[in-house]
Amino acid sequence: MSIGANISALREELESINVKLIAVSKTKTPEEIMEAYEAGQREFGENQVQELLEKQVSLPKDIIWHLVGHLQTNKVKAIAPFISLIHSVDSLKLLQEIDKQALKNKRIIDCLLQIYIADEDTKFGLDFDEAIELLRSEEFSRLKNIRITGIMGIASNTDNPKRITEEFYELKTLFKGLKESFFRKNDSFNEISMGMSSDYKIAIEQGSTMVRLGSNIFGHR
Ligand SMILES: *Cc1c(COP(=O)(O)O)cnc(C)c1O
Repeated sequence: MSIGANISALREELESINVKLIAVSKTKTPEEIMEAYEAGQREFGENQVQELLEKQVSLPKDIIWHLVGHLQTNKVKAIAPFISLIHSVDSLKLLQEIDKQALKNKRIIDCLLQIYIADEDTKFGLDFDEAIELLRSEEFSRLKNIRITGIMGIASNTDNPKRITEEFYELKTLFKGLKESFFRKNDSFNEISMGMSSDYKIAIEQGSTMVRLGSNIFGHR
């Protein structure tokens, strides 16, 4: 199927169940991204700042950009003017820098806490205790230019569906706990970004509100 047809089919599948589609366009050309755009897709995700910046300047200005990959503190400044949602916040230090740059740009930047759920050493993210400690901290309570709108997780790279199901279930359970403990009076904490091309159906069963799909749309990288 073409990129446009993939987008149309996925949008139809996801809209009816109220799950947001983030088209992950890393390594893909502006032409390929425009095919998805022409099919109606507006939310795109990149995992590298440099690549995101290059695409942002050349592509239509109504694209809503998400950063889904690891973010270094010294790169925050470059994306702060326009980024819509940062999925990959994994430290207080990073959050403080995002807050600082958001203030300079006179905006509030939405962020997700990336939670480590995979049974692998190589992935970024906070563990459950670290997430709780961050949200409890005095430093966090002083940040006025960021908004935590939910959490994000990447499941293990495995073809064992039971394990993936368990990891997403854990993420959903943590989400509920955090909402209850820290965001009870806060309607904007409501996103669970989980699910990639190989596991998005499981993620949706487990309560995903936002799936990040690359190869299902654009083909293999
Ligand atoms: C690349 C990437 C995706 C999309 O992966 P696919 O398997 O191609 O759907 C989703 N999330 C993150 C964080 C990624 O880096």
